[in-house]
Amino acid sequence: QIAPEVREGVLLGDVGTGKSSLVLRFVKGQFVEFQESTIGAAFFSQTLAVNDETVKFEIWDTAGQERYHSLAPMYYRGAAAAVIVYDMTNVATFARAKKWVQELQAQGSANTIMALAGNKADLLESGQVSAEASLFHHHCYFISYCVKMEIWIYALPFCFIRCITNNAFVILQEAQSYAQENGLFFMETSAKTAVNVNDIFYEIAKRLIRV
Ligand code: GDP
Ligand code: MG
Repeated sequence: QIAPEVREGVLLGDVGTGKSSLVLRFVKGQFVEFQESTIGAAFFSQTLAVNDETVKFEIWDTAGQERYHSLAPMYYRGAAAAVIVYDMTNVATFARAKKWVQELQAQGSANTIMALAGNKADLLESGQVSAEASLFHHHCYFISYCVKMEIWIYALPFCFIRCITNNAFVILQEAQSYAQENGLFFMETSAKTAVNVNDIFYEIAKRLIRV
């Protein structure tokens, strides 16, 4: 058997989006509900067979905290692939993901393959997010009603609530079109249920072989 191609990958994204959980799922097939937060960065490796070739992934799982930001280029500069992770139930993490994309486009190497992972997809199905969505809908409806009736004073508290709630879900189409516009490929993942976890690495491996 031929020696596998060794390719370096990096996971980037906000704290708590599930980077460590994704890599743990991919490498060990496990999930822990209370994953310890990563200090600095952690290293993993996993071999994948794609058609008749094997790719050995050497993966850097970064911490995501702002105080470790200056270390990030060390991990993404040499990377053949970068998985940028956000939490589908938290828009702020999507904004952070876009920042990573920008940084990689500006400072990373031009041929790094970028994948966008919308993680915690299982929560979308569990109703946690649909409850939020329905509340959002009710708020918007109420606000527009107040506007129509010119009773602004009643609408104001709801406008305020909408402004301070930043954990509204990320709209799927938005992530999809963002990925398309920026040359990334997008997948909804769940480290918890294992949905698309192997698939995202498999897709990366396929693209790596192609280049
Ligand atoms: P990191 O800071 O990006 O490495 O995130 P972690 O992997 O430490 O995960 C943060 C928290 O989110 C942990 O409590 C995980 O159990 C949880 N988590 C990670 N991935 C998922 C997922 O796909 N679904 C759900 N429901 N929780 C997840
Ligand atoms: Mg971590």
